[in-house]
Parts: sequence; structure tokens; C-alpha cells
Amino acid sequence: MHIGFILLIVSSLLLEQGSKRHEFEIPQTAGMSWFKGNTHTHTTMSDGDSAPEDVARWYKSRGYKFLVLSDHNVFTNPDTLANLVDSSFLLIAGEELTSRYGKKPVHVNGLNIPHVIPPQSDSTLLGTIQKNVDAVREVNGAPHINHPNFGWAIDQNTLLKVHNDKLFEIFNGHPLVHNFGGGGKPGMEEVWDFLLTAGKRMYGIAVDDAHHFKEEFAPDRSNPGKGWIVVRAHSLDAHEIIRNLEAGYFYASTGVELEDIKVEPTRLEIHIRQKSDFKYRTEFIGAKGKILQRSDENPAVYNLKSAEKYVRAKVYDSGGFVAWVQPVFVRKR
Ligand SMILES: [Zn+2]
Ligand SMILES: [Zn+2]
Repeated sequence: MHIGFILLIVSSLLLEQGSKRHEFEIPQTAGMSWFKGNTHTHTTMSDGDSAPEDVARWYKSRGYKFLVLSDHNVFTNPDTLANLVDSSFLLIAGEELTSRYGKKPVHVNGLNIPHVIPPQSDSTLLGTIQKNVDAVREVNGAPHINHPNFGWAIDQNTLLKVHNDKLFEIFNGHPLVHNFGGGGKPGMEEVWDFLLTAGKRMYGIAVDDAHHFKEEFAPDRSNPGKGWIVVRAHSLDAHEIIRNLEAGYFYASTGVELEDIKVEPTRLEIHIRQKSDFKYRTEFIGAKGKILQRSDENPAVYNLKSAEKYVRAKVYDSGGFVAWVQPVFVRKR
């Protein structure tokens, strides 16, 4: 037999072995439904322009299934809005712990907390973030780190060192938070890829951070409806929604809706909800932000062929809106 032919057979066998040894971790989402929600919004309890009831009604009447009213250092008690809560709408208690380190704003949301938590401070930037995260965990709440590029406050190396936080904002609808970076500062998706590539499991959320529900809706105002998440759960229960959010069982969006995300051992499928005559384009993204594959199909399918650390996806529509599918991690079998 020709030596080249033998080498070809051996190398193809090795390749096949390689592909078999790596598989996606399968999310435990069988039988779950999707629930749309927003975890960051303000009312007149802090610097928003509308009463908690009006804000909650804004979301409920637009099909959101859950909402966190997250006022600055104030606990807006959902029990006072019990008349709005029913089988199709859940209010989850929250607060935006609003601190700073020097001139740098440090804002950390606490989700599903029982009462107000005072903002924490420390002698370092990292310590300030960590103490706020810890204060949320202390009362069994779930923290998320808000708008890291606001005031160019929280860099990726600092984020990498924060413990016990699974969530951070990759998109915030407030006009002054610099989601996209520039001038040598990375945007939030670059930061996300940096963290994931370094082995840190962080999930990216999109939020409104809305303050303005009245008067003009304009690009330079902090209006609602700009960014949200859609979480998988068996039921509309605060504990389950938060637990599944922290497990990455969700996608984030500025406008693209998904029908389903299917993960098999070596296959990731994104089923996009078709809107009128919109066209879609999906990117499958691996470590260091490398684009592994593009697809114009629906569903968009990625077959795991090589030893990626993780694969996440971003779906663009022809109107400029996007959905971010959370990373699916790869393990050796
Ligand atoms: Zn903030
Ligand atoms: Zn805010």
C-alpha cells in the first residue's frame, strides 16, 4: 500500500476520534417554556419618571412575563403591586446597588432579594464590585454587574477576578453606557469573549435600564423596550427563573425572537421566529471571538467538529436587531 494512502487513513481515523471526544454540555431544559422579561428598570422610587405601577403596566401590556423594578438603593416592594401579578405576569423584587470607587460608578443589580441592601464600598475597584456581589448573595439574591463601560469604570481584567457572579450586561438600553466600546476600549461582546476564553462562565444579558416612560421616545433618552432576555423555565416562578438565568438557559435580544435553541452532543440549532419578510444571518462564535461559521438558513445549524472551548451564537435580522444565544460549553467525553 502506498505510504501516502496509509497516512491518509490514519489521520482521518485520528480526526474522527478527536471529534468524538468533544461534546456540548447539554442544558437540562426538556419540557420548559420561554418567558420574556427585563431585569433592570427604574421608577419614581429613584430617578425614573413614572410610578412603579405605570412602569409595571408598560411591560405587562407588551407581553413581558416578568419584570424586576431595580431602583437605585431603594427596594420597590412588589407586594405593593400585587394587583398586577397573575399567571401571566410576575414581579421579581430587586434593587440596583449603586456605589462607586473614586469617580467610577459601580452598579450591581440584586435580583429576588427580600429587602433593601445598602450599597457597599471598598478601598479597591475589585473589592467594591465584590462586596456588592457578596451582599446580594448574602440574602440569597442573584447579582448582575451592570453597564461595565459606563464611566469606563470596570475593565475586563477586573471583571475576570470577580467571584460568585454569573451575569453581566452585554447590552444596556441607556444611551450613555458605551455598549460598543471604541478608542482602545473593548465593547461588551469583546469583554464577554475575553472572559469566556479565560475560562470564566459568565452569561450576557440585555436590559432596558429604562428611566423615561413619558414624553418623547428618542435615541438619546432612556426609554423602555430596547433590550430583554427570554428565559426557559417550567413555570413563571421567581426562584426557577433566576436559577435558570444563572444556568444560562436563556437568550438576550434587542428585537430578534427565537422559537427554540436545540443542543445535541455535537449539534447546535437556532430556530428563528420569522417576522414578515425579514432576512436573518447567524454567526457561531468560539473562543477569542473567532467566527466559526456563518449561516443564512433557518434553523441555523452548527456541527461541532473541533475542540472548541465553547460556542455561542449571534443572530442578526435585516433591520439591525440581534439575539445573543448563550455559550454552550464543550467537554471531553
Ligand atoms: Zn446603573
Ligand atoms: Zn439603572
